[in-house]
Amino acid sequence: MSTPRILVVEDEAPIREMLKMALERAEFEVLEAADAQQAQAMIFELPPALVLLDWMLPGMSGIDLARRLKRDSSTQEIPIIMLTAKTEEADKVRGLEVGADDYVTKPFSPRELVARIKAVLRRAAPTSHQESLSVHELKLYPSEHRVTINEQDIHIGPTEFRLLHFFMTHQDRVYSRNQVLDQVWGSNVYIEERTVDVHIRRLRKALATQGYDNLVQTVRGVGYRFSAKN
Ligand code: CA
Repeated sequence: MSTPRILVVEDEAPIREMLKMALERAEFEVLEAADAQQAQAMIFELPPALVLLDWMLPGMSGIDLARRLKRDSSTQEIPIIMLTAKTEEADKVRGLEVGADDYVTKPFSPRELVARIKAVLRRAAPTSHQESLSVHELKLYPSEHRVTINEQDIHIGPTEFRLLHFFMTHQDRVYSRNQVLDQVWGSNVYIEERTVDVHIRRLRKALATQGYDNLVQTVRGVGYRFSAKN
């Protein structure tokens, strides 16, 4: 397996240096950018395996860059972990809503950061080659990381893709948020249950663009169920 290349976007040189050392120790290849403009240019030239993106940057903010990358079809598959000094829950949710795959709040331990990066990379890795899954006109191609409805591509992030894959292979059963977390994110990763709601909302929104607005159902007081039966 090749060494995953991580782009670190952080304006404060000492923090950037600390991140570089921690990631290199974990055997990642590290590229550095001091601001969002420089990062954007580097990403378009040579897409990294993952972007570690500081929220507070001079000029274009980290959140603005995350939004841009997730809107562009050539970069939207690249996982992003936001680094944030903000501890407000609303800010974390906002980060996830623009498309970030995870966030780490400063100060953090290098070990925690490396664990998060590995978890996000695992989630983003293509699943094994197999036939497409389908529910009516909704099709998911695991090896291509592609989802279509009526042959129209549906743009979803890597986490929504994993979520949809899980649901399509586990239909008509109710899962609690915790069970969804264990199945989709892995049981050894600490993520708040609200994160599930954020990604479910994004997945629903994407499916609704092609008229599939009732596949992911909320089961009050229990959790979620994916069903094509109404
Ligand atoms: Ca900063």
